[in-house]
Amino acid sequence: MTKRADGTFIVESMSGAERAYRVDPQAGTCTCPHFVRRLSGTGQKCKHLQAVEITPQPTALERAAAKAAGLTDEELLRFAREKNGSPAGAACWLELARRRNLVQAENQPQVDLAAGTCTCREFMERRDGKRIGVIWITCRHLDKARQEAIKDGASVAPRPIPPGVLQLLEGASEAERERALAVYQR
Ligand SMILES: [Zn+2]
Ligand SMILES: [Zn+2]
Repeated sequence: MTKRADGTFIVESMSGAERAYRVDPQAGTCTCPHFVRRLSGTGQKCKHLQAVEITPQPTALERAAAKAAGLTDEELLRFAREKNGSPAGAACWLELARRRNLVQAENQPQVDLAAGTCTCREFMERRDGKRIGVIWITCRHLDKARQEAIKDGASVAPRPIPPGVLQLLEGASEAERERALAVYQR
């Protein structure tokens, strides 16, 4: 089923035949033979009209959000002001806020030395990427925090093994596993 710009739908035949009908939910019409010959004018609906009616349509805000995602910051700010109070304006404000949060997370990463995690993009990408050969995950913030902890004279306790590392070690060879764990126990 595809929606056209004019508000009508193209619905494929349900009998498996390679046919498609045009359904107009506004007018309550369909081009299928059953509707044209028997139902037209009776107020009854064919299965294609019924299918279109039960298909959830994206809300105005969802459609606006999809569009906003493709705009530049400058365009977003302009549209947000111009269309303030409408779904389009709301979607622009939300997208701007989402981008600001991303930038903030990047500039002030939260390092959790004990858990061996960081909220920066570098760490996230390494964690999500699970690249072959990467058997422990770190980033410049975690590295710095570890060095500072050592410099402060903290007894160099065994490094905790972050959950991400254990995940990566699933399927690793025995040698890889030993090497990775040794790093954390040094
Ligand atoms: Zn029909
Ligand atoms: Zn980081």
